[in-house]
Amino acid sequence: MGQLYQAPPPFPPDGLLRSYNPATEQELGTVPIANTEAVKQAVAQARAAQAAWGVLSVAERAQRLKPFRNLVKERAPEICRWISEETGKPLMESLLQEVAVVVDTATYFIKRAPRLLEPTGIPLHLLKNRKSYLHYVPRGVVGIISPWNFPFSIPWVDSLMALLAGNAVVVKPSEITPLVMQKTKELLDQSGVPSELLQVVHGFGETGAALLQSGIDYCIFTGSTAVGRKVAAICGEKLIPCALELGGKAPALVCEDVDITRTARALVWGAFANSGQVCVSIERAYIPKRIYESLCRAIVQETLALRQGNPQATGLELGAMTWGQQRNHVHQMVQRAIAEGALCLTGGTLPTGPGLYYPPTVLGGCTPTMEVVQQEIFGPVLPLVPVANEAEGLQYSNASPFGLMGYVFARDAKRAKTYAEQMRAGTVMCNDSLLSFATPETPWGGLGASGMGRTHGAQGLKDLCQLRHVNRDRIQFSHEPWWFPYKEHWLNKMYAFLRTWFR
Ligand code: NDP
Repeated sequence: MGQLYQAPPPFPPDGLLRSYNPATEQELGTVPIANTEAVKQAVAQARAAQAAWGVLSVAERAQRLKPFRNLVKERAPEICRWISEETGKPLMESLLQEVAVVVDTATYFIKRAPRLLEPTGIPLHLLKNRKSYLHYVPRGVVGIISPWNFPFSIPWVDSLMALLAGNAVVVKPSEITPLVMQKTKELLDQSGVPSELLQVVHGFGETGAALLQSGIDYCIFTGSTAVGRKVAAICGEKLIPCALELGGKAPALVCEDVDITRTARALVWGAFANSGQVCVSIERAYIPKRIYESLCRAIVQETLALRQGNPQATGLELGAMTWGQQRNHVHQMVQRAIAEGALCLTGGTLPTGPGLYYPPTVLGGCTPTMEVVQQEIFGPVLPLVPVANEAEGLQYSNASPFGLMGYVFARDAKRAKTYAEQMRAGTVMCNDSLLSFATPETPWGGLGASGMGRTHGAQGLKDLCQLRHVNRDRIQFSHEPWWFPYKEHWLNKMYAFLRTWFR
């Protein structure tokens, strides 16, 4: 039995935040903690820099962000090493799920943002003497509060989109993984973008809370539902518009006609990539009884073939978990599930030795009401729930307060589509998982306990702007019929108009 992780004291007297390599538990470096005054100052500097940035055309901003995109491309191996060192994820995941996502999203929006943010006309159906159009105006300073599971792709995708939209940005990275943002912010500075335009403030929850109090104009918060509620309360009080990207409990609805081997592989990847520390990890699979035994066997076989070890080594599928407290939480949840009657088909033991490793764990025979099937796990655990049929699986899939992502596995495309369209989630994927975050053109976000608002896609880009509706006259009359003075014959004409026009 390994040791449960002991958290360091939360407020270091030297004012420095320490970052650790989860694979070795050795200190990696420190960053200074920003107090309330430093946060205010960062927001003020960002606001000053935004004045010049916000008046540039979108095309010009896009050109000025290209060198950063190029630096990320060129320095990808180094950045991947920084990410793997601080998170414990394998290099392949640092590349495909973090660096490549940022490069692709940057490329996509550098090319398309000028078109997407062009003023849009709205033809008026009635007032033909007037003309309406929408302008996408920068909001000002966007506060981005981000979690530790994707310390590069989450804050950078949001930041680059906010910058393209003409905003300045202040990022508060997670206290667990501050160095990735710290080091890559230096790349942005080297690329020639004004340094004050994107500020990074480090610290604990207090620093995030200070950012919300510092006069920001928009907030993108990505994190847990519990903290998201606190953020929403402050945003509500201060009337700060926000997007809240919160926790998930993604269901996989497996249909009876699936290809067993392919589906087992897909479920294993969807549950264990990044050691299950993904808001859209498959956290519960509903499997019809007719195929339950064969799919279970295939899942266990695929899981046993996974190689776990030093995240910097190549040819491994799993590294370490990122945060000791999260590993404790996962292990305790697994123990409680076993006590509740789940069968541990593989994994479930806390390894000895250094490094925050946790084995990929498959729990069979779970019931829909077990804690492990109801609550977010955020670790490498796949609970399998036998159900009578697909309809029952769909019913359980939808019976959750979370609604970030859902998955349907079926060989028959029509069957997959039918269930996908009935799933309660911001995004539903058929016959694959996780990928959707990496597609820059599609909206990202959830409903219920998974949050509100959308990032990514045209919608996410436009939400980073203030919408200005301009309504202009095309023809000027000396007098409009609705102006003073109100005359009786006009009243009668208007009654007649109402009767004849609206059919
Ligand atoms: P937390 O909610 O604990 O933290 C998120 C961020 O908020 C961190 O930077 C944190 O700082 C900060 N914070 C903490 N308290 C406050 C506060 N009172 N006011 C303002 N900011 C605060 O989440 P985790 O970092 O643990 O991330 C895991 C969670 O994120 C999971 O629930 C996961 O599902 C969710 N997530 C959602 C995604 C989505 O797109 N929907 C994507 C990725 C993750 P500090 O780290 O210092 O505590």
